[in-house]
Amino acid sequence: MDIVIIGGGPAGRTAAIEASGLGENATVIEDNKMGGTCLHEGCMVVCGLNDVSKFILDSKNFQKLGIVDNAHEVSFPKVIEGVKNTVAKISHILESETRDAGAEVIMGRAELKNELVTVNGEEFNYDKLIIATGARPLIPDIEGAENAITYRDILNLKELPDKMNIIGSGVVSAEFANIFSTMGVKVNIFCRNVFLGMLDEDIKKYVVDNLLTDVFIHENVHIKRIYEDRIITEKGEMEGMTLFATGLIPNSEIADDIVKINERGHIIVDKRMLTSHENIYAAGDVARMTGNTPISRAEGIIAARNACGIYAEMDYSLIPYAINLYYDVAFLDSKNKDEGVEGYVPGSAGPGSFWRALDGMTGLTKLNVNKERGVNKIFSISPSSRTSMAYMSKLLKEGQTIDDFDDFMEVHPSTDAIYKLMRFFARFE
Ligand SMILES: Cc1cc2nc3c(=O)[nH]c(=O)nc-3n(C[C@H](O)[C@H](O)[C@H](O)COP(=O)(O)OP(=O)(O)OC[C@H]3O[C@@H](n4cnc5c(N)ncnc54)[C@H](O)[C@@H]3O)c2cc1C
Repeated sequence: MDIVIIGGGPAGRTAAIEASGLGENATVIEDNKMGGTCLHEGCMVVCGLNDVSKFILDSKNFQKLGIVDNAHEVSFPKVIEGVKNTVAKISHILESETRDAGAEVIMGRAELKNELVTVNGEEFNYDKLIIATGARPLIPDIEGAENAITYRDILNLKELPDKMNIIGSGVVSAEFANIFSTMGVKVNIFCRNVFLGMLDEDIKKYVVDNLLTDVFIHENVHIKRIYEDRIITEKGEMEGMTLFATGLIPNSEIADDIVKINERGHIIVDKRMLTSHENIYAAGDVARMTGNTPISRAEGIIAARNACGIYAEMDYSLIPYAINLYYDVAFLDSKNKDEGVEGYVPGSAGPGSFWRALDGMTGLTKLNVNKERGVNKIFSISPSSRTSMAYMSKLLKEGQTIDDFDDFMEVHPSTDAIYKLMRFFARFE
């Protein structure tokens, strides 16, 4: 069977590898570079920049403690160059990995006319098609919007601006605010509603007070106009370059007249990632705005399995998320409406937080447990919480309750406080 996949990001690449692994002829078409938004503009770029930010904060702390003489000066152009080189290397590895897995990789922009896939005038026949074209920055309808940059422009910055106004209230806004403020930029965040509304109030307060210390956050503000060097709000003006962190819109236009698309531009799919067309699947950010690489990969696998004739459904329960700051801010919500009982505990001094214990800045973990002794929600701020949260998701999906943590054996020293709270709750009837 011929399976054609459009888009070489997390969803498309994973779909291609899965389909080849199942013995089918998979061809993945990528317009730009293998790896998609995640590698070239998103997760990995934030990861590279945030590693430098963490180093700057640690360096300042060691200077404060008298352990080093001087806090290190960072060369921003060298940071950008290093991120670009690393991303290029990873992209090359991903491309080889995809070919080695048996998929054909075609570089070029795919078009879809009358259900036919063409790239640079060449036609590609398919039995099943998977659309994984991802998303692009959403530019809000604000006067002067063309004067702002988006996450796509970060690696083109030649130098750090003195001041930056970030418009947006979500994860991307928080992550870039942390990176740029740590590097010495005076950062203001402007939110139409509230900042990081998905977080528990105590966790948000910890983030704002301890992890975004030098960032000024303005909530419930309406932006009237953007100039190259300042923005005008209904409350006044603020100098600085503007960065939009206002969300994404799906690249679904390619299939406009072929499959059903919802009012937000997402290709409509069922749990098997099947679109309204019997031979066309869609996966990743073009189908559901999860804004998350692991979910996009999982959707790519489900789309590929179904395209190859193996019935499989997506499971969106207990998805772990994280915000990349000095510490990980990881969270998981079972969506259980039961009010539950809450408890919280400060993080332990351990790898990554030992030298912050004297400041009292070791993180915070909060748990909400329901009547059935299952977990409603976990929020955890620590150097290691993103990893713990992924394993928590797996254990909870398999039906483990707090009682199963009574005999939890940790590795010491550890900065994971989730097990401590689980054990604490497990001892109460
Ligand atoms: C700033 C930022 C930070 C992020 N950080 C994280 C994070 O820390 N963790 C996390 O899990 N997620 C993160 N995300 C989200 C993550 O990057 C996306 O959810 C993920 O990349 C979506 O994968 P995808 O395959 O659906 O789409 P994409 O990664 O966007 O890939 C789509 C691919 O399709 C190609 N394409 C589009 N149209 C065509 C065409 N016509 N022909 C050929 N090719 C085409 C594009 O060039 C692109 O390579 C972040 C996103 C951003 C913007």
